[in-house]
Amino acid sequence: MTDSCLFCRIVRGEIPAKIVREDEHTVAFRDIDPKAPTHILVIPKEHVASLDEATDPTLVGRLSLAAAEIARSEGITDGYRTVVNTGAGAGQTVFHLHVHLLGGRKLTWPPG
Ligand code: 5GP
Ligand code: ZN
Repeated sequence: MTDSCLFCRIVRGEIPAKIVREDEHTVAFRDIDPKAPTHILVIPKEHVASLDEATDPTLVGRLSLAAAEIARSEGITDGYRTVVNTGAGAGQTVFHLHVHLLGGRKLTWPPG
């Protein structure tokens, strides 16, 4: 699974990505098809298919706190949104857990 997983391949450096933050447990990089002026994906280095497969609360927390840190470093002052699509029915297309960080424009609520 991790051999062919797109985001595992980004973690291993096999596929290029614009990395904005990295620590021992997480990597964050710019989305290839941004839906907002700032659109960054924060992922665990370890393969976890989705939030539904996650078992480590510390790891899940690390993803959110990394996103908050990046929002500050990106200079987002007017609010941002973190989104975790879980399952194909919710729009998940890459089955390696990721938090979307979206900001830099007005974000409507509720989302579509
Ligand atoms: P999902 O739909 O699973 O919640 O989000 C997957 C995200 O990954 C999408 O926003 C998509 O644009 C992004 N994505 C897909 N392939 C690549 C890639 O090769 N590189 C980067 N940086 N982002 C990707
Ligand atoms: Zn993976």
